[in-house]
Amino acid sequence: MVCPYCRIKLEDDATFCHWCGGRIDPEEERRKEAEKLAKAKHQKYVVLNRYYQQVFLIFDANGGGFILSWNWAAFLFGTLWYFVKGMWAKGLLMVLLTMLFGVGVAPFLWLYAGLCGNWDYYLFKVKKTQFWG
Ligand SMILES: [Zn+2]
Repeated sequence: MVCPYCRIKLEDDATFCHWCGGRIDPEEERRKEAEKLAKAKHQKYVVLNRYYQQVFLIFDANGGGFILSWNWAAFLFGTLWYFVKGMWAKGLLMVLLTMLFGVGVAPFLWLYAGLCGNWDYYLFKVKKTQFWG
């Protein structure tokens, strides 16, 4: 831990600072440290809106593995949602599939977007990939 008065590094169970002489309650310092850690975890995805913060933490809790989830925005806006979120590779792939197989493929793409959109966005934002791994 560090001294709360002068920030010098101390033994974890120190009860006073050997540098500035300040009295230290190691219990209190441990509690503050844990609090800071919890806060940092919570702020990890603070640039995202609340919805994606929650979703990303669920993926994190699963060790960064895939979990089926549902995203209404992705379902309703499909390909457009992918482009808006910056995932142009998958957006283009969807456009390509629609051109190859006709608009009949669209409902499947919407369904895919609804079920896997959150995961794709997690891959894109956290794992920095436009693809699947
Ligand atoms: Zn000190």
